[in-house]
Order: sequence, then structure tokens, then C-alpha cells
Amino acid sequence: MKLHLDRSIKTPLYLQIRSQIRQLILDNDLSPGFRLPPERKLATSLGVNRTTVVNAYHELVADGLIQPHVGKGTIVRPPRPTEHSFDRFANANAIQPISWQNFYTRQSERMHNPVLASILDEIGEEDQISFALGSPAGEYYPLKEFSEISKEVMRPGNWQVFEYGPTIGHYPLRQYLANWLGQRSIHTQAQSILMTSGSQQGLDLLTKVFLEPGDYIVMEEPSFLGAIGVFKAAGAHILTVPLDQEGMKTDVLEQILSRHRPKFIYTLPTFQNPSGTTMSFARRHKLLKLAYQYHVPIVEDDPYSELYYENQPFPSLKSLDEHEHVIYLGTFSKILFPGLRLGWCVAPFPVLEQLSLAKQHVDLHTSTTVQWVMTEFCNQGLLDEHLPIVRKQYMRQRDAMVTALTEFAPQGLSWTVPEGGYYLWCELPPGMKAAALLTKAAEKKVTFVPGNAFYVSSGGKDRIRLCFSRHSETTIREGIYRLCKTISEILNQPHPSGTTNRPRYSEPLV
Ligand code: PMP
Repeated sequence: MKLHLDRSIKTPLYLQIRSQIRQLILDNDLSPGFRLPPERKLATSLGVNRTTVVNAYHELVADGLIQPHVGKGTIVRPPRPTEHSFDRFANANAIQPISWQNFYTRQSERMHNPVLASILDEIGEEDQISFALGSPAGEYYPLKEFSEISKEVMRPGNWQVFEYGPTIGHYPLRQYLANWLGQRSIHTQAQSILMTSGSQQGLDLLTKVFLEPGDYIVMEEPSFLGAIGVFKAAGAHILTVPLDQEGMKTDVLEQILSRHRPKFIYTLPTFQNPSGTTMSFARRHKLLKLAYQYHVPIVEDDPYSELYYENQPFPSLKSLDEHEHVIYLGTFSKILFPGLRLGWCVAPFPVLEQLSLAKQHVDLHTSTTVQWVMTEFCNQGLLDEHLPIVRKQYMRQRDAMVTALTEFAPQGLSWTVPEGGYYLWCELPPGMKAAALLTKAAEKKVTFVPGNAFYVSSGGKDRIRLCFSRHSETTIREGIYRLCKTISEILNQPHPSGTTNRPRYSEPLV
């Protein structure tokens, strides 16, 4: 098999290898069953890195031209029958089912996120008490006001509400947000704000603009599973920094930054998802200092800071940033309605331009109709009226969950009490695994997210995230009762040896 690589042209080497092997197969110079040289051997003979050959082979697998076989190596596949190669009607039964996976991109293969999908699937299941889904309680939605405003905005003749709009978003809403953020010490202007279809889209756009496979990014661990999913799908190498009570451990971050050049640091400094942690003021300063020193952008994801139940949280990183290193993501999903899919991104102007270009390819713009209605809702002061209501309610719900846990929790179960946001982060009794607990708990119609979903590493198996925002105090109490009962039952299950699952230290030593 003779291949010639031309290093003077722009085509990457792996694509040159792919197209030459492809041609050899299509010309039948490499016939079905031919065994391609092992990756390392071909790499040595061509004077390239092994990864270059691995990538080329990967593309050929995706093209459906070759197939790796354990023990046999990589083999040229037989051609699939084409529509012209047989009489369509006589041989209708011979049509092979299409193997979609042969057409997928590598990014698509990395997209699988079963936890997120199953959390979203749970919505609407009736007798289930779900502490899994992180979303607002429907009963507090200001529906009357919102529907009246919708009716007014969508009045006959107001056809602009249904038109295409600018990719960057509806100017009056961006202007409102610039003022609103100004009251939170983020001094920005409408021109620096891009409306997104939720923060999840903001993360996706940032990934499209900044990340190529193999790039490094830094994030806290544990962290938001939707962010982990997007970064993984992009093929990024995720470097993780542990959290303590003060948030991301900046000493560990510094060690990472001194060794790697990440594209950005992703952080949730306020009422973190899932841990509920809030980064201390000192750490916020230290983080910014490190970002300036090592020239690394920060992506600050801030969906929960308005939901504080004690004191107002520390200022956002964006508001403390004096050198335009912070890209800020906000959303209406946690403070109002998640189903509208409306969020925003504040970024330095050149970044915003790139993000807008990326968004053009995704959905042209976020729904004009939704943006117009939201503008009116906000301009009538209804968002600001709504926030104190939900703060009060969610604080009660958090307290109801903490009270129920204090009352029902078996020994060995511990939890955090967040000062805001939606989540309690619990550590299970020693030896207990969240996945096994979920199976049993689901039988009792109570669910949560197992902690490992928030980890890039293999950690978190002994943690669970409980969301208190969606249910009434009574339902929360019932759900926690069921959960604690399940944990107690597992603890009391006899071991094969005749002992129970109880942690040793809980047994008297005498
Ligand atoms: N970031 C974090 C930290 C979140 O918790 C969520 C939602 N769970 C999102 C982003 C996505 O929110 P949105 O509905 O705005 O896409």
C-alpha cells in the first residue's frame, strides 16, 4: 500500500491518508478483507504521529469502508449493495437496514448523556417525587401576568412579533438586561449582550467558538452535567479542580495553569450546581488574578445568584473583572420559566461577534415572539416583583428539606445547606452507592441525580443531588421520608456474612 504525503499543502496529514486509502478501496486496489497495516507500523513508515493514522482510520470507519476487528486488525469492508446493483422490486428483501452509525461524526459519538435525557424524561410522571430535575416550581409561575402581556404583544396587526429578528437578539430586551445587570454591578451595555436560547446554548456556542478536539479546559469538580456533556462532545480534555467550602481551590488551579494552556476556565461561583457552594470573595479575587496572570478567559455560569435565601451573594466575577477576561452566562430558566428557552451572554465585543456568527448557523436567532413578550414583562417591573416571591418560597422549601433530613436521616448520611440556588448535596453512608440507591428509591417513587453524573473522573458515586425547588413542603417531607427509609433498608440488609451494611464505626466497640 503506497501512500504519498504532501507536507507543503494545507490538507491535514490524516485527511491525506484517509483520502488516498479511500481511493485505493474504491478503485478495488485494496479488496474486501484486506488487512490494513497496524496504526503504529503505518505511522512509522510514513514518518507521522500514531494519532494521525488513528484519526485517518477513524474517518474511514465512519465512511463505512473499513472495520476494526478484535484480534484481526483493521479490515477493508465488502461494498454495500447500491440501489443500482439489483432489481429494486425483485430483491426488496435484500435491502440492508441502513447502519446510521457509519454516517455519524465523531462528535456525535461523544454526545451520549443518558442522565440529562432521563431527568428531562421524568417531567410529567405523576406520582413520582422527583428531586432530580433542577427547575422552578410551576405553581409560582406568574402565568396570569405573562398571558395578559402575551395577548397584548401578539395583538392583531402586530406582525413584527412573528418576524425573523437579529441574531444578537431583540435590542430593547438587551437594553433592559444591561440596566438590570448594572444594578448588580455588572456595568455593561446592550451591544455587549447576546440573547441565547438558554444558557445551555451559550455553552454550546462558546464550545463552537473556542474548542477543538484535544484542547484543554478547566472546570470545578463536581460541576454542571450539561457543561461536562458539551465539553466532552467537543473532544476537549477537561482538567478538574476540586471544590472546598470556599469554592474552586485556586492553589490547585494555579498548578494546572502553570503546566497547561487551557482555552478557558468554566466556573459556577454562586450557589454551585450540584454542591450549592459559593466561592468566597478572596477566591474570586485570586481566580481573576490567575486568569490575568496566565491569560486565560473565564466562563462564569450564573443561573442561580438571584435565588439567595440569606444575604445577597458576593459580587459576580464579571462585576469584579477589570480586564475583560470574563464571559458571563445568565438565564431566565431558574428565575422565571425554563420552557421559554431564553438566556443571555455578556462578552467582550470581538467574542460576541464570533458567538453571533456561530449562533447564526444554529438557529438564526432566539424566538422573536418570546423576546418581545419577555421585554414587556420585564419593562413592566414584573421580573423584579417575582424574585422576592420565589426567594421566600424556595427558602421555605430548602428549610423543609433540611428539617425532614434532620428528622429522618439514618446515621452516616450528611448534607450541605446552601444559602441559595436549588440543591442539597448529600454524602451517603460509607459503602453505599448512589446508583444502587436510585434503583431502590425509584421503586418507592422518589428520585434524585446520582453524584457521579457531575464528575469527569470516576468520583461522586457516594453522593447524590437533591433539588428542593419543584415540590411543596409537604411533598418534600414525604419524598425525604421515602428516601431515608430506602437508605435505612439498604443499611439494614443482612450481608452474606450475616452482618449488616452498617458502617463499622456505628457499632459499639464494647
Ligand atoms: N448552567 C447551569 C449551571 C445550570 O444548572 C443549567 C440548568 N440546569 C444551565 C446552565 C442551563 O440552563 P438553561 O435552561 O438556561 O439552558
